[in-house]
Amino acid sequence: SPLLQVRDLRVDIGERTVLHSVSLDVPAGSLVVLMGANGSGKSTLGMALAGHPRYNVVHGQALLDGKDLIGLEAHERARAGLFLSFQSPPDIPGVKNNLFIRTAMNAVRESRGEAPLDAFDFLKSAKSGAKDLGLPETMLGRPVNEGFSGGERKRNELLQLAMLKPRLALLDEIDSGLDVDGVRAVVALIERLRAQGTSFIVVSHYLQMIELLKPDTVLRLDQGCIAETGDLELARSIARTGFARNAATAEA
Ligand code: ADP
Ligand code: MG
Ligand code: MG
Repeated sequence: SPLLQVRDLRVDIGERTVLHSVSLDVPAGSLVVLMGANGSGKSTLGMALAGHPRYNVVHGQALLDGKDLIGLEAHERARAGLFLSFQSPPDIPGVKNNLFIRTAMNAVRESRGEAPLDAFDFLKSAKSGAKDLGLPETMLGRPVNEGFSGGERKRNELLQLAMLKPRLALLDEIDSGLDVDGVRAVVALIERLRAQGTSFIVVSHYLQMIELLKPDTVLRLDQGCIAETGDLELARSIARTGFARNAATAEA
């Protein structure tokens, strides 16, 4: 069975139903691109899967390896191997970046019955990961995202991804705000992690990046429902015709 099975998920924020009966599969090792107009619910899906308390799952399931994530705390979902990079990565004042990443890595290791990382080994791989992503080493000693530029925040999310090597990564508009070198670094990192077994849901508006990602599946979300399912051709068609697609274009 697929690594992730989302079944009939309904998500409310406050009084409002933002996702209506969303179902999707992410087979192990695959990459799913999620497209959709602004406000269609892409980030809501990520936040709900990650377990953000404001996103109220009122119906449905999200099975990771057959185990329902709904009802688990956000940190328990992370331990189970889920990773979300935020569309707008928040500051975590007072918490140094290297400690934050190391704590997250050790929590995952602990849940697998592995020993905590040696401090020296951690720093060595964090430094090399930062270098791969074009982040200065000094970023590791600064509070998470505090004073980071938009692009640096995105790169920092990618550093967490590279270090954590999750089973399933949800990347929410990771390419927005990144320069060309940053986009290249994302694509290279995704390729490397895919080869190591990580599966992906990638939210993106940019066909150029989507082409490079070679997705297995492309989904279009519309007003909180999966409106279309396809492959790269669907992304190309959306890039040509926009999101205001009528039934005729959707079928063409
Ligand atoms: P997308 O990521 O596809 O642009 P979002 O998931 O961010 O869309 O938002 C989906 C809808 O939910 C939007 O109409 C948005 O205004 C609404 N929404 C998101 N977060 C909140 C919130 N905290 N309170 C009220 N409405 C929200
Ligand atoms: Mg948006
Ligand atoms: Mg969004």
